[in-house]
Parts: sequence; structure tokens; C-alpha cells
Amino acid sequence: MNQEKIGKFIASCRKEQGLTQAVLAERLGITDRAVSKWENGRSLPDASIMPELCDLLKINLNELFSGERVAMENYNETSDALLLEMKKQEELANKKLLSLEVVIGYMASITFLVMIFVASYVDMPAWVRVVMIAVGASAFAVGVTNCLKIEHDAGYYECPECGEKYVPEMKTVVMARHIGTSRKMKCPYCGNKAYHKKVLTK
Ligand SMILES: [Zn+2]
Repeated sequence: MNQEKIGKFIASCRKEQGLTQAVLAERLGITDRAVSKWENGRSLPDASIMPELCDLLKINLNELFSGERVAMENYNETSDALLLEMKKQEELANKKLLSLEVVIGYMASITFLVMIFVASYVDMPAWVRVVMIAVGASAFAVGVTNCLKIEHDAGYYECPECGEKYVPEMKTVVMARHIGTSRKMKCPYCGNKAYHKKVLTK
């Protein structure tokens, strides 16, 4: 996305609608400094106010992202570019989530092992031993639960038989046997039961 082009486009649409930076800012409930920053190409509007901004400027989201008016015949081409951009963003977000899963998984396992090791080899009263094992086990349980939740939320599972990508129920993910992030599940589309691979985007 070309931030500078988008900024100039916002400025020209704003003037077309006879709005000053201050009036536009007031209608959006933000500061006129923010509007001036977009128009100078120093920042982009927050996704949350984009729909309202488009409404006020009488443009669509597609045009906002491309920084120009889009003629109807070019419309599909541009929305493809937009979809591609959104797909890239989704892939990036899912990649980050999955690396977080690995970190949480390791931390939970290490905590568990250290607690068990210390409880087994260090001399201490029996009740301390029990507490340490309990703490280690719950750290492990919380870690595993979070990992499963992340794995469920990030991306999709792909059926090798029909190629459909889907998000299974949390319960199904928890119960399924797995190799890495591939899980043995039943495809909701064709009923094939096999190891379904984790993929980052649809
Ligand atoms: Zn299938």
C-alpha cells in the first residue's frame, strides 16, 4: 500500500466534499492532527474508522486502499490486489501466533520438568514436594491448553482428499491425534478421515 498516495487521495476527496481537516476530524471523533498525518502520508487511518471515513468522503474501501477512484471495469482487478494484501496480513498474523505456541509449549514443558526434577532430587519436606509437582503439572496443563487454543485459532486445516480448508471445533482438535501440527480428523466436506495439514490461509 502506498501511504503517500492514499494521503493525497484523502486530501483531494475531503476538499471535493467541502470539508476542512477540522470538520472531518470532528465527524470522526479524532484530532485534526491525525487527519493531517494521513494526508502527509505519515500514517494510515485505523481500520476501525475506515468505513466511516469512506462514507464521509463518498468513496469505497477499495478506493481508499488503492488511493484513487476505481472505474467499475477495473474493480475486480483492484479488489483482487486488496484480497491478496489481506491474505498476506492474515498469513503473517497466523505465523506469529504459531511461533507463540512453540514458545508457550517449551516454557510449560521446561517448568514441568524442572519442578519434577527438583522435587525428586532435592531434599525437602514431603508436602513441599507435593506442592512443587502440583505447580509443575498445572503450569503444564495451562501451557498445553493455550497451545491447543492457539493452534485451533490460527489458520485452517486442509483435507488432503478434497482440498477444502476448514476450522474444526475446539473439541475435535483436542481429541485428535497429531504429528506436529497435522491432526487426524474427519473432513466436514467429504468425510475423509486422515491427517489434515495446518495451513495459514484459505
Ligand atoms: Zn475433504
